[in-house]
Amino acid sequence: MQIADVRDDIDHELVSTTQIHDKIAAVAARVSKDYRDHNILLVAVLKGAINTMAAFSQALSIPAQMDFMSISSYGSGTVSSGSITIRQDLSTDVKGRHVLIVEDIVDSGRTLDWLVKELKRRGAASVEVFALLEKPSRRETDVDVKYKGYDIPDEFVVGFGLDYDERFRNLDSIAVLKAEVYQGEQA
Ligand code: 5GP
Repeated sequence: MQIADVRDDIDHELVSTTQIHDKIAAVAARVSKDYRDHNILLVAVLKGAINTMAAFSQALSIPAQMDFMSISSYGSGTVSSGSITIRQDLSTDVKGRHVLIVEDIVDSGRTLDWLVKELKRRGAASVEVFALLEKPSRRETDVDVKYKGYDIPDEFVVGFGLDYDERFRNLDSIAVLKAEVYQGEQA
């Protein structure tokens, strides 16, 4: 029996492991400087941002607290549902806190727009955003991403926390799947 490899279904790689970690290190150096006088709270949305959060938090040289929220934006397919509901809330009171949202990917920007407004509504002293990936051609909101990673084309990507139907999160780079992976689902 042939043993499956997580790369078997990959068509091509968009961002390599080295590129991911180089970018995260560069952004973390900036953030460490910008927040050296603040008690920073990193907030990530589960599950897609877990790898970015882990790598980014370890690259910071300042003390940082972390919290997670689970909200619904995508189901098992590749199209946004448009409506956002909280599945699991933060355990931290963000009132008066300097919050940095750590995002995997900004697509339409609707999830991020909602999250920034929600954290401000709860009384955060400041809310900024680091997004590892952005699809500029898909943007529908003007929410500001202060700390930018890589711009990517309008393609559905997996890896480094991002899934397709709960698969491929453990891939260590960002990649585009072979078309037959989706066609197989429809068959
Ligand atoms: P937005 O609200 O910006 O349209 O979508 C943001 C969320 O949709 C991301 O946090 C991510 O969970 C999901 N998403 C957007 N584009 C992609 C993609 O190319 N691949 C994967 N796996 N998820 C995506």
